[in-house]
Amino acid sequence: MAKMSKKKIFKALGLVTKQKGANYGGEWFATSKQLLEVRSPTSGQLLATVEQAGARDYTRVMQQSQKAFVAWRARPAPKRGEIVRQVGEALREKKDALGALVSLEMGKILTEGLGEVQEMIDICDFAVGQSRFLSGPTLQSERPDHRMMEQWHPLGTVGVISAFNFPVAVWAWNTALAWICGDTALWKPSSKAPLCGVACQNIVNEVFKRNKLPMGISAVVIGRGSTIGEKLIGDKRIPLVSATGSTRMGKRIGEVVGARLGRTILELGGNNALIISDKADLTGALASSFFGAVGTAGQRCTSTRRLIIHEKVYDTFIKKLIANYKKVRIGDPLDPQTLMGPLIDEGAVKEYENAITAAKAQGGKVLYGAKVLTPPFGRRTFVLPTIIAIENSAEIVQHETFAPILYVMKYRQIEEAFRLHNDVPQGLSSGIYSDSVAEAEAFLSYLGSDCGIANVNIGTSGAEIGGAFGGEKETGGGRESGSDSWKAYMRRQTNTINWGGQVHLAQGVEFQS
Ligand code: NAD
Repeated sequence: MAKMSKKKIFKALGLVTKQKGANYGGEWFATSKQLLEVRSPTSGQLLATVEQAGARDYTRVMQQSQKAFVAWRARPAPKRGEIVRQVGEALREKKDALGALVSLEMGKILTEGLGEVQEMIDICDFAVGQSRFLSGPTLQSERPDHRMMEQWHPLGTVGVISAFNFPVAVWAWNTALAWICGDTALWKPSSKAPLCGVACQNIVNEVFKRNKLPMGISAVVIGRGSTIGEKLIGDKRIPLVSATGSTRMGKRIGEVVGARLGRTILELGGNNALIISDKADLTGALASSFFGAVGTAGQRCTSTRRLIIHEKVYDTFIKKLIANYKKVRIGDPLDPQTLMGPLIDEGAVKEYENAITAAKAQGGKVLYGAKVLTPPFGRRTFVLPTIIAIENSAEIVQHETFAPILYVMKYRQIEEAFRLHNDVPQGLSSGIYSDSVAEAEAFLSYLGSDCGIANVNIGTSGAEIGGAFGGEKETGGGRESGSDSWKAYMRRQTNTINWGGQVHLAQGVEFQS
């Protein structure tokens, strides 16, 4: 695919350089007068300014979303699925432009930007089928001539808060399911990638308008977490908040939504490790480690942060890994030759530097990298991917640093590898490379990985939409995307029907005058 210019991307997605930050269909609007500058992480070029949504804008959007819910929930689920099918088609048409926008605004390389849009298309396809299968079981009643069953009903307006690193896919994971479940969705995108939010809303607006559906089924407010985000999470009219981001943000959201007994899906930070056994196919392990640690410049929640390597293969493996690191082509994410783009901003570079300093102070030895590059395109956001040999117990290893820093360590016995693996506060994604059935099965058993995602002969980074996605411990416990994640977007109801005419109380209770 030839490199797309900013102008072409903007035109294809209906973006303007002076953007307003609120929408529920129709015109974009905002009244806050607070401007957000959107700059390319690659060049620092000003891409657009967004006037952020203020309190009055939020009220307007929320009222419309509530109104739309009443109409949308009455539409049969398969007919809602038909709309989501059309959203998937619209995304197919805009895939090149939207994938390029993800690269331009967030900085991941083009193939990953396109992959992210593919993920949106995949979840739409998944949701279409699911729309005919929002089913509950029929249960056996203990009372004669009674029947029990379970039903699932729409929940209301679902709040979606997303992180900068998956600026479009996370929204789709949530909305495609929320919509087939009969909910409306109110999205607060990351302030670091707001244009992706505008583009997605423009794409679905067309679909809803063409189908003459009420405005508000999809709504967006762009603004800071501390202002508009706080309004959203404190809003009692929102029964479910699905939030993706740092553990710090998740703790705050869990506290506020929990205090009003609302529900959350929390998708927070990871600290993902890959165990490489002496019984592993080292070629596969190398490819997976390389992509896991360097892909997306280490800015995936599932990025490989730790390698736990058997001492027998450690030296050979590290040598090969360093050879791969030396060949990483770092540069413009929109150039098809590039393997690693920039970090999101200068703040992320500072975190990268701080983590390396801390690792060294805590006994770590830099094996490769640890360097901020002279700005090739004008912005100090490019770094060398870094490998550091260090103990798992070092304080810095216990934290997620959202940058391409890989900590490596040795083990002798598989039990020791499992212990090191689980000895961090987070629990998102994990993997083992081993051709030993016993080791692989143990890793997947109660003795092994304590993460929400555990893989064999696959790395930690990247997941398919068909499975439930999310993690344990400080990763927040939420699940979204595939499997039965749809249930979180609905309310469950147990029904008992007496068709026999005689009144029978449960548990044999007698109550007659
Ligand atoms: P972040 O926590 O800084 O921000 C995430 C979102 O939360 C943003 O939209 C932000 O505006 C909003 N926010 C912050 N404070 C808020 C508040 N008080 N009320 C409401 N909203 C608030 O995260 P980030 O830097 O954008 O993303 C990186 C982090 O996200 C990493 O920790 C990464 O692991 C995590 N992440 C997790 C997953 C997952 O599925 N587990 C996926 C992607 C990213």
